[in-house]
Amino acid sequence: MAQDQVEEIKRKIDIVDLISEHVDLKRSGRNFKALCPFHSEKTPSFMVSPELGIFKCFGCGLGGDAYRFLQEYEKVDFPQALKILADRANVKLKPIRGWKGFQEKEEFYKTNYLASEFYHYLLTRHEVGEKARVYLKKRGLTGETIDIFKLGYAPEKPDALSRFLEKKGRKREILQKGGLSIEKQGRAFDRFRGRVIFPLHDHYGNVLGFSGRVIEEKGELAKYINTPDTPVYKKGRHLYGLHITKQDIKDLGFAVLVEGELDALSSWQAGVRNVAAIKGSSLTEDQASLIARFCSQVRLATDADVAGEEAARRAIAQAELEGLTIRVVKLEGRKDPDEAAQKDPGYWKKAIDEAKDVYDFLIDEAFERHDPATTEGKTKISRELGPIFSRIEDEIVKAHLLKKVAARLGVPEEAVFSQIQKKARTASPAKREEQKPAPAKSRRDLLEEYTLALAFQIDAKALEEEELISLFRGPSAVKLVKKWSKWKKKREFDPSKFAQALPGELVDLFARLVLVELGKSFSDPEEFKKEIRRAKKELEILNIKEEMQVLSARMKELESEGSLRLLKKLEKEFSKTGEKLSVLEAS
Ligand code: ZN
Repeated sequence: MAQDQVEEIKRKIDIVDLISEHVDLKRSGRNFKALCPFHSEKTPSFMVSPELGIFKCFGCGLGGDAYRFLQEYEKVDFPQALKILADRANVKLKPIRGWKGFQEKEEFYKTNYLASEFYHYLLTRHEVGEKARVYLKKRGLTGETIDIFKLGYAPEKPDALSRFLEKKGRKREILQKGGLSIEKQGRAFDRFRGRVIFPLHDHYGNVLGFSGRVIEEKGELAKYINTPDTPVYKKGRHLYGLHITKQDIKDLGFAVLVEGELDALSSWQAGVRNVAAIKGSSLTEDQASLIARFCSQVRLATDADVAGEEAARRAIAQAELEGLTIRVVKLEGRKDPDEAAQKDPGYWKKAIDEAKDVYDFLIDEAFERHDPATTEGKTKISRELGPIFSRIEDEIVKAHLLKKVAARLGVPEEAVFSQIQKKARTASPAKREEQKPAPAKSRRDLLEEYTLALAFQIDAKALEEEELISLFRGPSAVKLVKKWSKWKKKREFDPSKFAQALPGELVDLFARLVLVELGKSFSDPEEFKKEIRRAKKELEILNIKEEMQVLSARMKELESEGSLRLLKKLEKEFSKTGEKLSVLEAS
């Protein structure tokens, strides 16, 4: 049964190991904590419980098990998460019915993989690949680079690949849907012909599609063609080369992002290995969020002839959403990163080392384009920089840049500032939906949650032993406690199993309770007892106070109605409750 396997895999996966591959976890008592990878924050509120196999962020509210983490973090669907974790746990998944989409994806990966092997073989070992070999050699690519990135060659013959794949048992329909062949009058024609092939991988190394470059530039042929959007490939979602370079990117803490495949390969060959290509001139939101999993800074190196400024400007919006900082690599006297890295690796490395902060870069560019000595120039510069500055959230950075620009323009800071304010009102920056702040919790919610957290984290039996069960009033707390009492009658309390048996609405509360930090370890049982009794007393006091409030409201009603007999009765009750309260408060 699939469900058994889901559970089996979960048991075998160490959630701390898994998450710590992506997030810097620090031990915190029985749990681990970190800065949340799903929202931007300065103090850690992301918690992981190794015992329960769950995570929970107290900032943005996201939480769940290992599958959920992968789904959110890797943006994959459940079947994919299942497959990743099954591989990790060395569990062989039984064929699962109903997961057609998932199996279909696997079909495409397999087919693309075979195609990449076919192309690579022709390039490296077959005589038809000769022309392409000569070409790549001329472009300066070594055999090692060609092997590692699996470059290939698609022959001129119209259906060489289609025939090969059909012989290997791949369905024609998959070839077409996967963008490898095109059907014309009942015949399959290969999409890529007479081109050098760059396989496009996701960062796990699955082959998603291909990019093909002509060897000789002839008028009517497009220089590059790419796999169209297919069930596994979507333009702008991936970064070329990342499956090879991700570790270097992690180790160095930044990624050099270039435009094309050859830029990336030449850079890699020149020793700048923390590189990936965006395959276009502007970073997309998906790419920004992908690269942000591996590093916190990107250095953009676009072609010198394209407006690097425009690319930088667009990248800012994407990158800031992900908390990435951007620097811009400026190439002087070199056409593109490919040329720089091939002809002068030393220069390429230096240019990357000297990459400018994106804001400084944009300021410099604006000053280069307009003459700051004229009034017109001054106005243009501040108008151009306005929308960029208005997006900066860090006030210190903003103030610093303002000062710089004002000084260079020779105008008071206020003048530049007012330009920015104007822009801020008109241009609404691209921004992810603001996190809605959770409604403030009442003292009761806080107290009940603390008491439950204490019990569930240290010793749940105390709920019964200390007679706490009847003291809760919050609807979710009451439900949870009821579930717990039922559960423990039948078996030993196991938080992990208990969590799995809870209905969805309570899982979240329970996860929060077992992951919230108590601020103390309560390793001494006496100390725990003292604390739980203190919490109990506060709950009792709160309950009595609320009872008295209800009584006094009712008394007021009775007084205005003139029901004096009933009023007397309630007054007695009120004063009795009052006594109870003072006894309790004095204890
Ligand atoms: Zn969060």
